Amino acid sequence: MAKYTNKSELEIKARQLLTQRGVGLDDIAELVYYLQAKYHKNLSMDVCRHNVDRVLTKREVQNAILTGIQLDVLAEQKKLEEPLQKTIEIDEGLYGVDEVIALSIVNVYGSIGMTNFGYIDKQKPGILKKLNDKSSGEIHTFLDDIVGAIAAAASSRLAHSDAEDMEEVDI
Ligand code: MG
Repeated sequence: MAKYTNKSELEIKARQLLTQRGVGLDDIAELVYYLQAKYHKNLSMDVCRHNVDRVLTKREVQNAILTGIQLDVLAEQKKLEEPLQKTIEIDEGLYGVDEVIALSIVNVYGSIGMTNFGYIDKQKPGILKKLNDKSSGEIHTFLDDIVGAIAAAASSRLAHSDAEDMEEVDI
């Protein structure tokens, strides 16, 4: 397991940003549990947490986190040019680029993730409900999709490793 502790600067930054924006590893692990508990007997939070942790080692995922959160923060600080400022500020429904960035995460583990992503985006359990609460004054237009996508990707990873008879697949 030692190699997992050698985190790149990009990975460290991505993890820090999630924490700073109020999203803990356990919050995402809970979403994975929500998505997968009915398909896996005796699923534990530890297994969910582990799969989220592995998804966060992927460069595509780290880049999506950095890009999305940066845009959320700039929008909060009102530093974007119009009309983009307003679009991101009000989380305009037809914008769609937030979902496209999130899809780069979902795609890392293949198409199983798509179904989970669509489902969790509709249900908005746990941390997703909190991120969507517009009354906070915070802007999470990108982050809510990114967090849902990480949970969906971790669910796919979990499904794949289950197919390998719970043998650890290092993908
Ligand atoms: Mg969004």
